[in-house]
Formats: sequence, C-alpha cells, structure tokens
Amino acid sequence: MVNIVIHQEKCKGCLFCVSACKKGVLIPGTSPNKKGYHYIKAEKPENCIGCKMCSIICPDAAIELFKEDD
Ligand code: SF4
Ligand code: SF4
Repeated sequence: MVNIVIHQEKCKGCLFCVSACKKGVLIPGTSPNKKGYHYIKAEKPENCIGCKMCSIICPDAAIELFKEDD
C-alpha cells in the first residue's frame, strides 16, 4: 500500500499529475485551496503502484509518496 500525501496548499491545479498517472489514481479536485486553486484528489489510492511519476512531474512538489506495510 502506498500512502499518497497531497500538499493542498502547494497544488496549483495544473493536472500534470492526473495526466501522468496511468492507474487513474488522481482526479481533478473541486475544492479550492487558500490561493483559489482546485487541488487534486487521490480518488483510487488502492490502485497506486508507487511509480512516483506524479511526484516527479509536479512542478510544485505537492505530492509525496510513502510505502506502507499492509
Ligand atoms: S505513484 Fe504512480 S500510480 Fe501512484 S498516484 Fe503517482 S503516478 Fe499514479
Ligand atoms: S502536478 Fe502538482 S501542482 Fe499540478 S495538479 Fe498535480 S499536484 Fe497539483
């Protein structure tokens, strides 16, 4: 299991990570952060394989991934 931590206040809603994730884990969000950006959500975290493409592509370092034991 991978713990996906989304730093909501860093996210600018560019959706690069949503496009990069081939597992459909991430989706556009509907709630704005304090800067007015709609931060993304992890809709299907159970599908995450920990490939880190989302965190690598994020220009704002808004996603951190931690491997967790089940
Ligand atoms: S680590 Fe890979 S599978 Fe998991 S959310 Fe990021 S891009 Fe998707
Ligand atoms: S790539 Fe980063 S800034 Fe862009 S939507 Fe994803 S988490 Fe937010």
